[in-house]
Amino acid sequence: MMRVKRLYTGNVVYGSLPEGCKLCLRGLKSVVFVTGICPRSCFYCPINNEKKGRDVIYVNEKPVDDISKIVVEVALSGSRGIGLTGGDPLFKLDRLIAIVKTVKKVFGPKFHVHLYTTGKNLTLNTLELLESLNIDELRIHPDPSDMERILNLIENYNKDTLKIGFEIPIFPNNLNNLINLIDKISRYRNVNFINVNELEFSESNSAELKARGYSISDDWKTAEGSHTTAIQFLHEIELRSPKLNVHYCPANSKDNYQVRLRWYRRGILTARSHEIVSDEGTILKAIISETCERIPSTLVVKGHIGSETSLVLAESYGAEYRLVEELPDYKRTLLNIL
Ligand code: SF4
Repeated sequence: MMRVKRLYTGNVVYGSLPEGCKLCLRGLKSVVFVTGICPRSCFYCPINNEKKGRDVIYVNEKPVDDISKIVVEVALSGSRGIGLTGGDPLFKLDRLIAIVKTVKKVFGPKFHVHLYTTGKNLTLNTLELLESLNIDELRIHPDPSDMERILNLIENYNKDTLKIGFEIPIFPNNLNNLINLIDKISRYRNVNFINVNELEFSESNSAELKARGYSISDDWKTAEGSHTTAIQFLHEIELRSPKLNVHYCPANSKDNYQVRLRWYRRGILTARSHEIVSDEGTILKAIISETCERIPSTLVVKGHIGSETSLVLAESYGAEYRLVEELPDYKRTLLNIL
């Protein structure tokens, strides 16, 4: 009997973890938001209003207007793969093709690509196209009314390397529906995995979630009861032993591992000589007064908030300084001046 494993990140896995998730949990994936256009309008959609329904492109939250900028950001983050998300990237197929061809050419054929879609316009031809592009994983978040069609499509597809799975949010107290869904999916061939995600509150979905009776947890970001239902679900999965890999991804894992470890790598790769990267992945340095004469000017750098130098130099020259902490993201978001 396959056992449920609890990972140090809080993720829970029955069977094996999809390759894309393994990389993601180590901070080795960049996120490419291909478009905000989506054929569905899920009431729980967490996408923010600047992106939702708009044909915009972002990579690791950086707005970009051409593919070369995606390549640069991926390289600066030291990523070994990308997750293509939206909206629904399959609704901007030419763009999607261009991105995948470019990253596979620049970073090599083993550079891992996973793609999210609603599956709304998925056909056998599209599946063949995705496989020919050497896309590694397809993760489908379908409209429930479209599930049957998509399962039959996958069943009839003679796939080779493309791994196909489903992404499902966990609604609190929805255990029976989840079990029915798994029973159904596991009767079909060619489905490799199911990823279930903790239901998250965001600025854009909170009114809709509250209107439907969901409440926010003490962490101020997840729906109360979603985590408990997920754990009960994995327990049921273990008892039923389906021939399917099932993985629960809690919201905390995204913040504490996927994003933070990516920042850490980006910090290491982009820190300038006077900056150090903290254990949390933030950038630390000293900001000194414009008129400080204690430190030789050759050891002072003009930063976007003032004159900067290293903490070690500021200490050893006895200069008055303030400690600056920034995120190592593309705009070096200021966190603290202490
Ligand atoms: S499918 Fe995804 S992007 Fe589209 S509306 Fe639903 S949650 Fe939002």
